[in-house]
Amino acid sequence: MDAFDVVIIGAGHNGLVCAAYLLKAGYSVALLEKRSVPGGGATTEELLPDEAPGFHFNRCAIDHEFIHLGPVVEELELERYGLEYLYCDPVVFCPHPDGKYFLAHKSVEQTCAEIARFHPGDAKKYGEFIDFWQRLLKGIVPIFNAPPKSIIDIVGNYDFEKIKDLFSVLGPPNQTLDLVRTILSSAEDMLNEYFDSEFLKAPLARLASELGAPPSQKNLAIGAIMMAMRHDPGMARPRGGTGALTQALLKLVKSLGGQVFTDQSVEKILIDDGRAVGVRVAGGKEYRANQAVISNIDARRLFLQLMDQADVDDADAQLRERLDRRIVNNNETILKIDCALSEAPRFEAYQHRDDYLIGSVLIADSVKQVELAHSEPSVGHIPDADPSFYAVVPTVLDPSMAPPNQHTLWIEFFAPYQIDQAQDGLKGTGWTDELKNQVADRVIDKLAEYAPNLKQSIIARHVESPAELGERLGAYKGNYYHIDMTLEQMVFLRPLPELANYTTPIEGLYLTGAGTHPGGSISGMPGRNCARVFLHQQQSVIQKIKGVGESVRSTVGSIFKNF
Ligand SMILES: Cc1cc2nc3c(=O)[nH]c(=O)nc-3n(C[C@H](O)[C@H](O)[C@H](O)COP(=O)(O)OP(=O)(O)OC[C@H]3O[C@@H](n4cnc5c(N)ncnc54)[C@H](O)[C@@H]3O)c2cc1C
Repeated sequence: MDAFDVVIIGAGHNGLVCAAYLLKAGYSVALLEKRSVPGGGATTEELLPDEAPGFHFNRCAIDHEFIHLGPVVEELELERYGLEYLYCDPVVFCPHPDGKYFLAHKSVEQTCAEIARFHPGDAKKYGEFIDFWQRLLKGIVPIFNAPPKSIIDIVGNYDFEKIKDLFSVLGPPNQTLDLVRTILSSAEDMLNEYFDSEFLKAPLARLASELGAPPSQKNLAIGAIMMAMRHDPGMARPRGGTGALTQALLKLVKSLGGQVFTDQSVEKILIDDGRAVGVRVAGGKEYRANQAVISNIDARRLFLQLMDQADVDDADAQLRERLDRRIVNNNETILKIDCALSEAPRFEAYQHRDDYLIGSVLIADSVKQVELAHSEPSVGHIPDADPSFYAVVPTVLDPSMAPPNQHTLWIEFFAPYQIDQAQDGLKGTGWTDELKNQVADRVIDKLAEYAPNLKQSIIARHVESPAELGERLGAYKGNYYHIDMTLEQMVFLRPLPELANYTTPIEGLYLTGAGTHPGGSISGMPGRNCARVFLHQQQSVIQKIKGVGESVRSTVGSIFKNF
């Protein structure tokens, strides 16, 4: 049996980040990945090698914002391993049916000037709106970059500027209460409070819904940060596609002696005397873990599908039922469309400029349309009567991803995993090849209403149904955030309070990945935080006390420096 200090289940970007930190600390690490391509939701693949050779597609994530809120890229020196980020500017384009459009630049001032062409009052309010969410974001980022129950780690992440930002949104008691009121409200409530125009509210609602819930969902006003982040730290893409992030991590992991085994689907966690001691993969091979097994897959699948019931019950008799019935998953996932194009789409009725295509292209005609796009999937209906979606032409910013002068088109269309009443199709979800192509046709028709040259430019296309995406990622009900990103499942509640600090009731078994704090997206934060918890647990008491001293000294030092 091969033996390592640490065995990680899944080589998603969080598993790879976690591995890198552990290898740097001197541990031997193996990553076991079920696919032949590592990276999970962070891959770039030549999807259509026969019909469209040389076109490279981001199969999932494309726009990276969260990773720039943390230190992973710098700490791991990923540029040295080939990672280069290209920043988008403009960051968003959304054409409106009445001829107006929302064009957001990285600069807030430039964006306000664009809005002012159609509505000066909303332009002024936009500046205030972004300023509020920016200050809140900067005030809470230190919490993202630490294990949620590690107060010392969190305190150590605050410096004078971050404390100032936090207090500027907290303020006196009534201001603090008003902030609580904001957090408890919905993205739609906030947009109605600030703005009058639909051409502005609809795209902001579309982006807020990237958290995977309709704009009317209470307690999710925080979705507004999805636009705020596009201004600062900005929105970027690795040159060569998201897979270039994975490739840089792989190079680093391998250079440190880490081993990545592909086509190794973990089927069982091996438990000995209440402790995780290794895993067994499909085909029967076993890998021994002398110190820890770390899961880059979600807790629900880990404990309900990869472990013997008795092993879990011995550690926590309630855990299985709580994972099964308490974790929320609203049935929403993505139907993914990738096209090879002979030319880029042209928004003729909007004085087309190629720079419209640098950032995210949003199709969001009204807040109501976005609402249906995210409420219908929860009852098993496909919101394709008038589709709202998120599209990107990545090759405008990065021509290296297609043959010269040709382009790719990336579309994510939110759709149910389980179709209402269906029993046929893949895994009984109702998704068949015929249905996914019908839905893709409607989505393409909608985009072609805005960019009439689109259909004639399609050389080939690849459509992946929600059920297929779920199978590829190995994610429960195709949930690419592993579990929903709703407030009651965030921070020290993610995925459940008893599992929220990357540890589990089974000794030597740890959790990382999108299903842990601070959640899904390309951030590397769950991987880094999990590594910190593991390493902290290995430290002696003296080392721990020294760490606390350093952390407090750095925060206090930063405050005094500013007086
Ligand atoms: C279509 C789409 C578009 C997206 N767009 C964006 C975006 O633009 N920006 C953004 O920030 N985020 C985006 N996301 C979300 C983002 O991709 C994910 O939240 C993120 O990749 C999660 O990373 P992870 O490492 O935690 O988990 P994952 O990427 O899910 O990795 C888990 C890994 O575990 C492997 N695995 C599963 N089961 C087993 C098993 N039994 N044995 C061994 N290995 C196993 C999987 O194959 C996978 O490699 C998008 C997601 C999708 C689906």
